[in-house]
Amino acid sequence: MALITVPLQSADMSRLEPIIGAERMRVVQKTAVKISKTLSGRSLINVNSTAKGGGVAEMLYWMLGYVRGAGVDVNWYVIGGNPEFFVLTKRLHNMLHGKSAPDSDSGGEFTDHDSAVYRDVTQQNAAELRALVSPGDIVILHDPQTAGLAPEMKDAGAVVVWRCHVGTEQESEIRTTAWDFVRPYLENVDAFIFSRKELAPGWVDVKRLLIVPPSIDPFSTKNRAMSDETAQAILEHAGIIQGAAGNGLTEFTLGDGSSGRVNRMADIVRTGPAPGPDARFAVQVSRWDRLKDMQGVMEAFANLIDGERDSHLVLAGPVVTGVADDPEGGEVLTECIEAWRELPHFERSRIQLVCIPMTDIDENAAIVNALQTHATLVIQKSLEEGFGLTVTEAMWKAKPVVASAVGGIQDQIVHGESGLLVRDPYDHHEFAAAVQAVLDDGKFAEKLGKSARQRVTERFLGDRHLLQYAELVAGLELIG
Ligand code: UDP
Repeated sequence: MALITVPLQSADMSRLEPIIGAERMRVVQKTAVKISKTLSGRSLINVNSTAKGGGVAEMLYWMLGYVRGAGVDVNWYVIGGNPEFFVLTKRLHNMLHGKSAPDSDSGGEFTDHDSAVYRDVTQQNAAELRALVSPGDIVILHDPQTAGLAPEMKDAGAVVVWRCHVGTEQESEIRTTAWDFVRPYLENVDAFIFSRKELAPGWVDVKRLLIVPPSIDPFSTKNRAMSDETAQAILEHAGIIQGAAGNGLTEFTLGDGSSGRVNRMADIVRTGPAPGPDARFAVQVSRWDRLKDMQGVMEAFANLIDGERDSHLVLAGPVVTGVADDPEGGEVLTECIEAWRELPHFERSRIQLVCIPMTDIDENAAIVNALQTHATLVIQKSLEEGFGLTVTEAMWKAKPVVASAVGGIQDQIVHGESGLLVRDPYDHHEFAAAVQAVLDDGKFAEKLGKSARQRVTERFLGDRHLLQYAELVAGLELIG
C-alpha cells in the first residue's frame, strides 16, 4: 500500500475563449492571476482514492492541469488501501446514498473492527502524506475514503477542505449511520464543498459550506468534437457496431492536442451480429454500480421499448478490474449478465453489455466519446447521483438525455427543455415512455440536444468552476 502521485500536465485555459467568449475569459484570467499570487509559496494538494474510473478522477485530471497552467503549485495524490478498506468505504459510499448492501439485514452499523480498518489505512496514508505537506498548504480531500485524513492534515498545519461528491437528499437511518462514521474526522475542517446544497447533512456549518457543481472540459479526450466517421470506426474496431462507412481509422485527439489510436477491443456480451451504423442507439455509460441501475435500464428497455423498430441498447462500463476503489463492479456486472441471459432471445439480440478497456485511459475516453457521439440518445437512470458527469458529457455533445431526477442531474437538465427527467427512478414505465418519446421524434430529440449543449456552455464548464475555487481560496483564512 502506498500513496500514488498522479502526474499532471499543464494546460492553458485561454483555449476556452472561442467557447466561453472574451468577457468570461477576461474574468477568469484576471482571477487566475490573483489566485496564483495569493497561493504563492503554498501547494494546492488534492487527495482522492482512484486515479481512473469515476467522475472525481475524470474531473481532477483536466482541472488540475488548468490550475497548474495558471501558475499554481498543484499536486494530486491517490491513497493506497487494502481490499478490506475499499469494501468498507464502498459500503460507506452506498450508505451515504441511503442504500445498504443487498444482503445486509442490519442497518449497516459499523463495528469497532470497521473503525480500526479505516483508521489503520488512514494512518498509513497520513504518514506518507505528512512528508509532502507543509504548513499553509491547502489540502482538498475528496469523498469519504479520504475524510479520515483531515485531522492529520490539520495537525500538519494545512488548511483543509473536504469535498464530497456523493450523497442523497433523502434522510434515513442508514444515511445518518454513515454520516456519524465520517463526521468526527471532519469537525475541524476549514471548509466543505458539496455538489448541491440538499446533499449536505444538517450538521455541516453553512458558514464553511460552498456549493460547487462539477464541470467538464470541452478539450478533454472524452469531450473533444469527434467526427461521425471516427466515432463509427472506433466503435467498429471495439466490436460494438459493424459496417461503418469511412476509412476505418481509429485515430483520435487527446486532451493535449496530440494523437492516439484505439487499438484494443471491448469485452462484449451479446448474441448475434453487432448492429449496423444506422441502428438507433441508446447508451448508458457508467461504472458497474447498483446505484447506476444498469439492470433496470436493461429490463425496462427489453420489456417496454418498441422492438419492431431498429433500436438497440448499449450498457457500457469499465472492465471490472479497472477501478481500484470500487470492489463491487464484478458482482454488479455478473448480476447484469445473469439478468440479460434471462431475457427472450429477440430482446437479448438488441442489448449488449460492454466492458471498455482501462489500460490506456485516453483510449478508454475515446471509446466513451465515440459511444456518446454515435448515440441516438443517452440514458442515466441512476437511483441516486451526486452530480452525474455522464449527463453533462452527453449534453455537451448535444445529445438528448433521459435521466432520473436525482441529485445533481436535476440541476443539469431542465425537464422538457434540455433533456427529460424521470421523476421516479424506480418507475420503468415512466422511464420507458421518456425513452420512446425521444426515439420516436427526431425533431424533439434534436431540440433537446441543442439546448442541452447551450446549458452546459452556460453553467458547467471549467471557468465557472475555477472562479468558485478562487472564491473558496479567498474565503479561507490562510495561515502564515
Ligand atoms: N467513465 C469512463 N469509462 C467508463 C465508464 C465511465 O470514462 O467505462 C466515466 C464517465 O464518462 C464519467 C465518469 O466516468 O466521466 C463517471 O462520472 P459520474 O459523475 O457520471 O459518476 P461516478 O462514477 O462518479 O459515480
